[in-house]
Amino acid sequence: MSRKIIAGNWKQNGSLKQSVKLTKDIVSSVKKNKYKHEIIIFPPSLYLSQTQNINRDNLIKIGSQNVSAYNNGAYTGEISASMLKDSKIRYCLVGHSERRHIIGESDAICSDKALRLFENNVKIIYCIGETLAEYKSKKTQLILKKQIQYLFKKIDKHIKNKPANIIFAYEPVWAIGTGLVPTAKELLLTFDFIRNTVNSIGKKNKSIKLLYGGSVSPDNASSLMKTKHIDGLLIGGASLIAKKFIAICSTI
Ligand code: PEP
Repeated sequence: MSRKIIAGNWKQNGSLKQSVKLTKDIVSSVKKNKYKHEIIIFPPSLYLSQTQNINRDNLIKIGSQNVSAYNNGAYTGEISASMLKDSKIRYCLVGHSERRHIIGESDAICSDKALRLFENNVKIIYCIGETLAEYKSKKTQLILKKQIQYLFKKIDKHIKNKPANIIFAYEPVWAIGTGLVPTAKELLLTFDFIRNTVNSIGKKNKSIKLLYGGSVSPDNASSLMKTKHIDGLLIGGASLIAKKFIAICSTI
């Protein structure tokens, strides 16, 4: 049976000391509890190698929060997919709402990033989701379809060969860091829609995993995980507190 995923996005938070401590706490909890699911953390890029040093037994996966849309070259400040690959980073986030809406990354940039990651065999957690205004004007499905179709057009042949290299994370922008979560009925409807959209594009796409993200906490994790089609969770705020992240890992 394919494993569920619990992923923690640390964003631009913490210090080296805090990142090392958090990684140690998570790794030792995984060692002790032998969770069946896959645990992935996304520390700030500067701390990736220090956190990898703590995870020598590969008990968890460590991913990058970002990647360049370009291959190696004159792109000051960027980190390429091949650099992630040769640093043994096997996962990368793409399309997170903060990168789309604060940094201004378009579907075109996000799908270029995904393409670079595919070329280097780094797995992608591709975030999709509607803004509050889009949610209120009932455009959720329209936006999700647009985001998914744009990506699939760009990486069509790669997805056909390696569908397991892409994981979608549905993160309604209005649910991120707000304490708001879609109702059970809304989630079911939206995940049905995402599943059907993804499946309708390719024969092998049934195996593509779908995560939910947005104000996940130890209190709601287990009920969210019971939603049909949800294969895991992407967690922001609660992943910065070892106790909360471990509690989520333990409840599902
Ligand atoms: C996120 O930023 O991916 C996220 C889900 O944040 P939070 O859990 O804090 O809502």
